[in-house]
Amino acid sequence: MYPLQHLFLGILFGVLLFFIWPNYFGISGMIIVIASSVLIDVDHYLYIAIKKKQFNFFKVKKWFPIAKKKLFELNSERRNNTYTGWWFLHGFEFMLVFLLLGLFISKYFLFVLYGLFFHHILDYLHEHDYHLNRYDKVSSIYDFLKFRKMEFIDD
Ligand SMILES: [Zn+2]
Repeated sequence: MYPLQHLFLGILFGVLLFFIWPNYFGISGMIIVIASSVLIDVDHYLYIAIKKKQFNFFKVKKWFPIAKKKLFELNSERRNNTYTGWWFLHGFEFMLVFLLLGLFISKYFLFVLYGLFFHHILDYLHEHDYHLNRYDKVSSIYDFLKFRKMEFIDD
């Protein structure tokens, strides 16, 4: 899912939470939920920037539609053994950190968690568009190990 779609749906989600529990979230909580529901995708930029040694944001951004197009050109067997990047912030591990910080330190970390959780739901719903015979982004450690045996899509 594209960042703008995440932003739009993240705003709806954040505003909805604020209207249901205004005293718990407050304006600051709402903003944190919205921000975290979008900013988690920074791992897409970071991974590709480091992998391709290209730190120009706009050049990195151009890479994603190219990779998607190339992925769809592969037959389904090859596509299922190909990955477009390791999204290291996607998975339960990163959310677990915020759950623990939220329970033991401050509820503000829980606001981040709600945004991350919402983002993951949207990503899972969107993932079948790629027609992959696997589930990515459930565990970042598992993805890392899985992708080591796969082919990275490259231009
Ligand atoms: Zn994502």
